[in-house]
Amino acid sequence: MAKAATRRCTKCGKVKPLTEYQPDERSLAGRLRRCRACCAAYLRQWRRDHPERARAAYRRSNRRRRAYRLAYRRRPGARRKHYARNTAYWAVKTGILPTRTACEHCGATSPPARLHRHHPDYSDPLRIVWLCTLCHGEEHRRLNDERRKAEGRSSKRAGAGGHTAHATRRGDKRRAPGKPRG
Ligand SMILES: [Zn+2]
Ligand SMILES: [Zn+2]
Ligand SMILES: [Zn+2]
Repeated sequence: MAKAATRRCTKCGKVKPLTEYQPDERSLAGRLRRCRACCAAYLRQWRRDHPERARAAYRRSNRRRRAYRLAYRRRPGARRKHYARNTAYWAVKTGILPTRTACEHCGATSPPARLHRHHPDYSDPLRIVWLCTLCHGEEHRRLNDERRKAEGRSSKRAGAGGHTAHATRRGDKRRAPGKPRG
């Protein structure tokens, strides 16, 4: 095991585990220098001091979330994908489909790996492949590349993929509308 990762908060001065510091790419060492509790207290006070700006900021972020959600739902095939994922989820839940504890590509076991129900074909909701998150990402990058080639576009992701350890990419959760989910 690595040595216990802790850090002293620059605001309250307490030593806390790294997880108590919000990840932030722009900060030194990739995390904010104030602990979560201090940041929350600061934000609460800021909202109290700037009620108008706080309300405006809230409305803005709400609008953005809403636009994002709508864009996601309007993507081609979104309805069919949603139906397939939902069907597979309940099929496993109710025992119609067996559950698995290992990735069908690399054999990573869950836990600690998280397994997804991948659909090779969304129009066949009950045909699923259990993949760990990493293999699932790779599979969709591969499928995207294939599709791009078929459409005559150049592959943006050439050379991407190939994962080694499962622990290394945790926390690399990026929420993009193109994130594969099923
Ligand atoms: Zn603090
Ligand atoms: Zn895997
Ligand atoms: Zn998938």
